Amino acid sequence: MGKSSKDKRDAYYRLAKEQGWRARKFDLFAGVTRVVDLCAAPGSWSQVLSRVLIKGEKFGRTAWEDKQEKTRQLWLKIYGIEPSAEELQQGQQGEIEIPKLNPRKDVKIVAIDLQPMSPLDGITTLRADITHPATIPLLLRALDPTYDPSSQSQQASHPVDLVLSDGAPDVTGLHDLDIYVQSQLLFAALNLALCVLRPGGKFVAKIFRGRNIDLLFAQLKIFFERVIVAKPRSSRASSVEAFIVCLNFSPIDGFKASLEEPMGVGDRLDKMAKMMARQMPIVTSTCLQDPETGTWSMSPVTTLPTQSAPGIVEVTLPDTEASDRQKGRWIAPFLACGDLSAFDADASYHLPKDRITLEPVQPPTAPPYRRALEMRKAAGGAYGKTSLG
Ligand code: SAM
Repeated sequence: MGKSSKDKRDAYYRLAKEQGWRARKFDLFAGVTRVVDLCAAPGSWSQVLSRVLIKGEKFGRTAWEDKQEKTRQLWLKIYGIEPSAEELQQGQQGEIEIPKLNPRKDVKIVAIDLQPMSPLDGITTLRADITHPATIPLLLRALDPTYDPSSQSQQASHPVDLVLSDGAPDVTGLHDLDIYVQSQLLFAALNLALCVLRPGGKFVAKIFRGRNIDLLFAQLKIFFERVIVAKPRSSRASSVEAFIVCLNFSPIDGFKASLEEPMGVGDRLDKMAKMMARQMPIVTSTCLQDPETGTWSMSPVTTLPTQSAPGIVEVTLPDTEASDRQKGRWIAPFLACGDLSAFDADASYHLPKDRITLEPVQPPTAPPYRRALEMRKAAGGAYGKTSLG
């Protein structure tokens, strides 16, 4: 796809490039000092963390950008076209806000990915697999070089305020397979988060809202007081992509997270359900996996399960809302978020004639397609010299 067609289709992509951010904005970071960014390459989320948490930059639009946006909206309403850059500037001289910086020294951010990442100010990058148990001690040592794995201290092994995950596997093009593999990656991220988050911590991850997303909501609700599905306006409505925002991590007494024996494998979820049953008033709901088709469904159950049949995982949900209880399911509230008055990722915009096409702020360091491009170039283009004669 050419640069200009991408620019036209996705105004947020262009805006991010113009502002020098590696991708689009999402405000999440109030009151956190220890952050882990999983699946972080090429590093746009880490870049935002670095600029907001370490350098103390103001996050979100400045007053000047707000004014520009109002002008732009007026032009669109009155003239039906985008104003030029010069027209946007008119009448705004002397009103540019100089952002106040509040650099912080107490912030620790660790970014992890299978791919190498270019260095970012103040961020420790680890090239590691988030599904591997050895990644946890590596991460805890990156956060605190004095970390001792033999220490039993809860604070030493659970120091993290916020875990972010934007994991995505290499896409195969087979839709169901891609959604399945992505969900497994999300599960790995959640397991890792459960291992390192402090009580009260937050977990934010990209999800694809597939058919049986209720099951994920139910699982998350076991561990977090609030679970919200958020969709910024910058994410196309046609895409199943959304973000799950989980607040106030409240681990159940006696539950021990582990990557060697992750939740969801064997009967660990079932055991947890029973553990919860002993601790709090609950309504039970059963998630059934059809052993033949592999599909999941949730059905209301009024008594507590005693033993699971193979292929069946029982999940218990906190007794929150009567209507949900009747339906036997818990659905995470949906929240449209981000800047609702700004660009809509689903709309096409007339871009100003005097616009300049910008290069990406951070091109991928080692993209898997680089070798293919080199081979294609060496062969003389898309079809090769020989085939075109
Ligand atoms: N959040 C990133 C950013 O804003 O620049 C973009 C992340 S990209 C959509 C998904 C990333 O997941 C890829 O860089 C990929 O290498 C990484 N990934 C996939 N499987 C992984 C795994 N098992 N462990 C670590 N990273 C993984």
